[in-house]
Amino acid sequence: MAVMGADLTRQTAVVLAEAIRTGEATAVGVTQAHLDRIDSVDERVHAFLHVDTEAALDAARNVDAKRSAGEALGPLAGVPLALKDILTMRGVPTTCGSRMLENWRPPYDSSVVERLRAADIVILGKTNMDEFAMGSSTEHSAYGPTRNPWDLERIPGGSGGGSAAALAAFEAPLAIGTDTGGSIRQPAAVTGTVGVKPTYGGVPRYGLVALASSLDQAGPCARTVMDTALLHSVIAGYDPRDSTSINAPVPDVVAAAGKADVRGMRIGIVTELNGEGYQAGVAQRFRESLAILEHLGAEIVEVGCPSFEYALGAYYLILPSEASSNLARFDGMRYGLRVGDDGTHSVEQVMSLTREAGFGAEVKRRIMLGTYALSSGYYDAYYGSAQKVRTLIMRDFASAFESVDVLVSPTAPTTAFKIGEKVDDPLAMYLNDIATIPVNLAGNAAMSLPVGLAPEDGLPVGFQIMAPPMADDRLYLVGAALESALHDKWGHLLIEEVPAL
Ligand code: GLN
Repeated sequence: MAVMGADLTRQTAVVLAEAIRTGEATAVGVTQAHLDRIDSVDERVHAFLHVDTEAALDAARNVDAKRSAGEALGPLAGVPLALKDILTMRGVPTTCGSRMLENWRPPYDSSVVERLRAADIVILGKTNMDEFAMGSSTEHSAYGPTRNPWDLERIPGGSGGGSAAALAAFEAPLAIGTDTGGSIRQPAAVTGTVGVKPTYGGVPRYGLVALASSLDQAGPCARTVMDTALLHSVIAGYDPRDSTSINAPVPDVVAAAGKADVRGMRIGIVTELNGEGYQAGVAQRFRESLAILEHLGAEIVEVGCPSFEYALGAYYLILPSEASSNLARFDGMRYGLRVGDDGTHSVEQVMSLTREAGFGAEVKRRIMLGTYALSSGYYDAYYGSAQKVRTLIMRDFASAFESVDVLVSPTAPTTAFKIGEKVDDPLAMYLNDIATIPVNLAGNAAMSLPVGLAPEDGLPVGFQIMAPPMADDRLYLVGAALESALHDKWGHLLIEEVPAL
């Protein structure tokens, strides 16, 4: 694993950590290389909202000191990471992409950040996102869009477009995202990177600013399946501070990624998400991937999940309902922005002026939708019906998993679309989430990994794998097998450079 003389930003986390352990590279050297890369490309990409240069170098120095003192280093010690700006980190701005939280510095670390620190991972800074994680393009950030490193005129997906773009632009080898309706997987798909939404309850939500609490889940993002697995194992596991955290052993995702074997597995194509009507190149790469998996020894079958047809409608009632309640806390009294506090306004007026100024259009739209769906007289018709659909979707998954080990689909219906193309058309934006949302509603686990470029536009295509709850290891078993077969065909998609940078 010679990294001497090589560009450190082009390496996997596995290679970097090994080089740091053996002394071939220092954590400070690795961190500095990534900070320099951010300096040279982030003006164009805008993946980061905040780069924490001094703290990152301090963390890296600490790793190098541990090594000099002969202390054992963990599997990702000294490796840099980009953190979505929705997770709290003590003393570091946490904006959620909103003016509402501009200049807010949380007084505590989220569980995820605690675990990253304990693993000696070097946090470079906070990444851009759609405001309060509502969106599929990162255009709803109050701080301007992030651009896709494959084509700077295109979106990097959302809401976690900053984290995915940071990976694709070689600004960081690891990133953390959150996935409430697809915000890890869809950005991974359109940037040619890997992202996993763990089983709901698999990664603690403590310190994750809530969008829809029954759906929110943080997860690992990287450029390879093994790097993703290593990060998954760092952040997953029980935490009593999250009441929905699962108190059970974490599936061995690292072993599964190492095994990379699909022989004898049954893989189900979801009939309702089989790529028909999707962009031609997306459907083509999906079918090719199925052929590869079959060649590797898996049995491919088709499984119907009829309730998935209603998933999008149910999600866009449940999410706004929960969001309207969660976002009530941003009232100008407790965090961040306060407008009109000049002695001439009542408390209610200050709250109202603050919310008027602090929230963007998409956030306001969802608060209104959610408030309406929860209001007396409409509750049963909207929220109640959506919850019933949710139960039906869970049953579809449960019965599908009686006959197959994993389910698969394309992650997103198209490759990255142009900035500006859908931003004024909420419905068109929501339709991006058609294949990712069922998993969030049911609470199980899913991965998106890159399976080549669409021939018509040369942009990355994502392949989605879905597993039963607490069977996250199966994602890695299948994902790593497919990745290694594709590696022979494509080389690594991102190994050298992305076209636009
Ligand atoms: N596109 C989804 C939405 O707008 C993504 C939400 C998410 O996963 N944070 O709601």
